[in-house]
Amino acid sequence: MTALLETQGLGRRFGGLQAVSDVSFGVPAGQVLGVIGPNGAGKSTFINLVTGHIKPSSGKVLIGGKDMTGAKPWAIAHAGVARTFQIVKPFRGMTVRENVAVGVLYGPSHSGRMASALERADQVLEEVGIVHLGGRAPGELSVADARRLEFAKALALDPKLLLLDEVMAGLRPSEIEPSLELILGLKERGLTVIVVEHVMKAILAVSDQVMVLHQGQILTSGDPRTVLSDPRVIEAYLGK
Ligand code: ADP
Ligand code: MG
Repeated sequence: MTALLETQGLGRRFGGLQAVSDVSFGVPAGQVLGVIGPNGAGKSTFINLVTGHIKPSSGKVLIGGKDMTGAKPWAIAHAGVARTFQIVKPFRGMTVRENVAVGVLYGPSHSGRMASALERADQVLEEVGIVHLGGRAPGELSVADARRLEFAKALALDPKLLLLDEVMAGLRPSEIEPSLELILGLKERGLTVIVVEHVMKAILAVSDQVMVLHQGQILTSGDPRTVLSDPRVIEAYLGK
């Protein structure tokens, strides 16, 4: 099994705080990795290190076997990596459809023609179930639909590796189900996905393996059911 993503001793320090420490982990192509851990555990920083939005203080990031440590976000996007942001930040003054199309235009494999970018935008909006909202302003969307927009923006880049940072937070159970189906559908198409999530039901439903971060370090990892019933994981969540 080839690891599509591999980190070796990955670490990041912010002043006196070691936000991520010595994370060595491999994600085989086509797998879904669930990443859990209490608030402040380093989950978003881990994502930011992989996508180049934050530079590591130590360690390496390999994508498809290629050393991409310290590469700029655009270079990592061109290597086939897309992500959502925990804090949604759409372009105001543009429609939902245009928001996705702009992402397509700046994406790695595009001709640069607006008409075909808009066409591609409609395809991914359809895939995430909000094509009917394409003409709206992003600010008018519900929380659940704004998350779908984030999802669509990432998918529009045709990634090999997709990183999702708490895309289900604050959603009702009825709104979570479609997100799970979407992720499983992407996996079926061969995408590799990293899902950072607090919704344990969601983690169990989609993950092939789970990595638990605690105070920046890997507390444990492996089979989802085993990991989620590990007393050390339960303790970490209870803040003991
Ligand atoms: P999580 O996503 O697991 O909740 P984060 O990765 O956001 O955790 O944060 C891990 C730790 O690093 C926290 O203590 C947070 O305050 C700190 N941190 C994150 N980003 C920065 C930053 N840009 N500057 C300083 N500290 C940061
Ligand atoms: Mg976070």
